[in-house]
Amino acid sequence: MSRSKQRTYVITKTSWNLGLLFQDDNDPQMHEKRIEVEKKSYEFINAWKDRTDYLEDPIVLRVALDHYESWKRQFGSDGDEGYYFWLRSHQNQNDPKIKARFNKIEEFSKKIENDGQFFHLRIARIRPDLQRNLLEHGSLAKYRHFLERIFAESRYHLSEPEEKILNLKSSTSYLNWTRLTSGFLSKEERAVIAEDGGRKSRSFSELIGLMNSKRRVTRDSAAKAFNDILLKHVDVAEAELNSVLANKKVDDELRGTPRPDALRHVSDDIESHVVDSLIESVSKRFGISARYYALKAKLLKMRKLRYHDRNVEYGEVAQQYSFRQSVSLVHTVLRKLDNEFAAIFAGFINNGQIDAYPKKGKDSGAFCSHHLMTQPTYILLNHTGKLHDVLTMAHELGHGINNELIKKKQHALDFGSPTSTAEVASTFMEDFVLDELIGQAGDELRLAIMMQKLNDDVSSIFRQVACYRFEQELHNEFRAKGYLSKEEIGTLFRTHMAAYMGPAVEQSPGSENWWVYWNHIRYFFYVYSYASGLLISKSLQRAVKQEPSTIIKVKEFLSAGLSDSPRNIFLSLGVDIGDRQFWDRGLNEVERLLNETEALAHKLGKIRRMP
Ligand SMILES: [Zn+2]
Repeated sequence: MSRSKQRTYVITKTSWNLGLLFQDDNDPQMHEKRIEVEKKSYEFINAWKDRTDYLEDPIVLRVALDHYESWKRQFGSDGDEGYYFWLRSHQNQNDPKIKARFNKIEEFSKKIENDGQFFHLRIARIRPDLQRNLLEHGSLAKYRHFLERIFAESRYHLSEPEEKILNLKSSTSYLNWTRLTSGFLSKEERAVIAEDGGRKSRSFSELIGLMNSKRRVTRDSAAKAFNDILLKHVDVAEAELNSVLANKKVDDELRGTPRPDALRHVSDDIESHVVDSLIESVSKRFGISARYYALKAKLLKMRKLRYHDRNVEYGEVAQQYSFRQSVSLVHTVLRKLDNEFAAIFAGFINNGQIDAYPKKGKDSGAFCSHHLMTQPTYILLNHTGKLHDVLTMAHELGHGINNELIKKKQHALDFGSPTSTAEVASTFMEDFVLDELIGQAGDELRLAIMMQKLNDDVSSIFRQVACYRFEQELHNEFRAKGYLSKEEIGTLFRTHMAAYMGPAVEQSPGSENWWVYWNHIRYFFYVYSYASGLLISKSLQRAVKQEPSTIIKVKEFLSAGLSDSPRNIFLSLGVDIGDRQFWDRGLNEVERLLNETEALAHKLGKIRRMP
């Protein structure tokens, strides 16, 4: 078959075609649609707000949930207009007219949300004995897991007035504290040796970037300034973090949670023992990350890496890829995996659902967005032709394919992904595209790409698990001792960092204070999800490489949305993610890449003997 016959897409639009929602900002349809959203919303609200029979009778609850689902599917509280102006505001961040329009529709939507929230809240307050009856009732099977999710969270809810007080006090007792340290840090700047060799003043966030510079004097100078800033604020951070830990302890005691990370697991729809088995499996294999850093030190010709050297890139990846080439490459990889994947991608291209290039005023990141189930997916990229941009395209496309598969199989109340598996589809596509790029590259380029890939894998899996363990110990130690000094926090931090980095990375002076600027420890225990998503993805990749027809199971998983917990979804596919062997299979993939990278470095004479 000729190439052109296989190609099912035509690249004519490289900006979003928002015409799938409205013609333009002044489309007269907008007003009519807003009235319809209001009408449908209050049809639901007024039908149910004064009734209580649906809280006891499963047949009536089914009717109410069907009504709720159809409202959420087609209208929600802001309809197409909310999504349209949200997208517009990312296309053009500097236009005050767009901001104003977005704020207006937000205001409209907030009122409806407030009026409609009774439904969720009352279901959450159904008595536990009644909950069981409802969950077992056949007519509610369609919404079983939706109800299970609400009931699971409600287990730790306090009474309505108590929740109200906690909510009203949360800014002063918690959020304002977390903003204090980061607010001080963001105001700092220091004169450092810049990339061009001159002395220049750089902001705190610029210093973080400069610590990865390939110029040793630049990154050393940035690290010195960075450590100096952290030292200046470490006393404030000590007081702040102790307050944050105390507030969390009080909340957990009031709610009666069994352990500091329990609420995170409930809201992520994942069992604590599954997270425990992930953390234990990865910790047992910290030898992999230690070996990676040892290899990197050798390649960079350093006896040991200092703490701030660990993300410096090895080698040069200068290859350029046009948008057209990237699309063709990603499409080819998708088609090899599954025709439906390729067809979804072709649809995105043909319909103008991808915004490709950087533009003035446009959001500088990359994302894949969805809102209501009946609305189109839109992907934002900033393609500049680097290898990284090709991978970002594959990543966001993974999210997009995931959305479309869920739409086909699930109802609107199960449309979405739990945090613990939200990055499976994205990293799955990304890694297959990377394999293709590695296959095309010559030896030197291949070594550079493989080292970058390992750096990403080590950061997402081993470092995040080390962070998670640091967090766990921080809460437990605080609860045992009542207060932690900056030295005690620093010692804990250093122990956990050294554990995954191994002897090739020096825990250099000043690095014991790096917890000062780590925001995630103030928002509790979400970092495990980087590791769970990537390891599940790697495990699935291995299965597909061994037996291509396994892609059918992968698609079943990607179609499942929120219809059950990730553990149950996998159990129905014959895989137990509560089993340590499952995580080990993903870890074996990282080790395999490390082995290949070491062998290549050896073959090219970059290292004298295998570590
Ligand atoms: Zn992602």
